Amino acid sequence: MKDPAFVFPPPPVPSVAVEGENFRVAVRRIFCVGLNYAAHAREMGKNPGAEPPFFFTKPADAVVASGSVIPYASMTANLHHEIELVAALGSGGADIPAQEALGHIYGYAAGIDLTRRDLQKRARDEGKPWDFAKGFDQSAPISALRPVSRIGHPGKGRIALSVNGAERQIGDLSDMILGVAQVIAEISRFVRLAPGDLIFTGTPAGVGPVKPGDYIEGEIAGVGSVSLGIAA
Ligand code: MN
Repeated sequence: MKDPAFVFPPPPVPSVAVEGENFRVAVRRIFCVGLNYAAHAREMGKNPGAEPPFFFTKPADAVVASGSVIPYASMTANLHHEIELVAALGSGGADIPAQEALGHIYGYAAGIDLTRRDLQKRARDEGKPWDFAKGFDQSAPISALRPVSRIGHPGKGRIALSVNGAERQIGDLSDMILGVAQVIAEISRFVRLAPGDLIFTGTPAGVGPVKPGDYIEGEIAGVGSVSLGIAA
């Protein structure tokens, strides 16, 4: 077959491992939910009753394999950890009814929504976009996926994160304001979802800063664990 006419070689396809398999899931887009746990909304100075969860994105090539050591992000002095349940879609569509949404999920992973908190707060206060506060290089560390065929749909269970062995975040998946099915239904009203889309479903309370040399470990019951080193 003749090579297509690209001026430059196409970029590599970002992908996530599948636990115990030698195949991977190609990542198409990364969607994220903001303020999806009431306790986290409160720690961010928000009233969870008055401000419902909302959505933002990261670039697909922000994924980083669990176990990696990454540099401290540029352009921030307040890099924060956010442990999150991630759903990976195996099929998609537009206007997906909530009662059908779980059927579109291929598997789940534990992810960390790394955040330049200082840039995020400045953007919020100035009414400017969040993009560079959330969607920067290596801002989406993620564990290997566990397929739904093995673990089903984790509607409850402990979600926690520690830094250098000290517990920082703890919550339960059942505390999510919008459940995974509602999140998929809602995002699919804005954009057509497709296989390989990842959805970071929001973080429980206890977010905080990391520094060079730190070791981060996140764990979600039944889903897996994600670890990350910040280079010294
Ligand atoms: Mn988040």
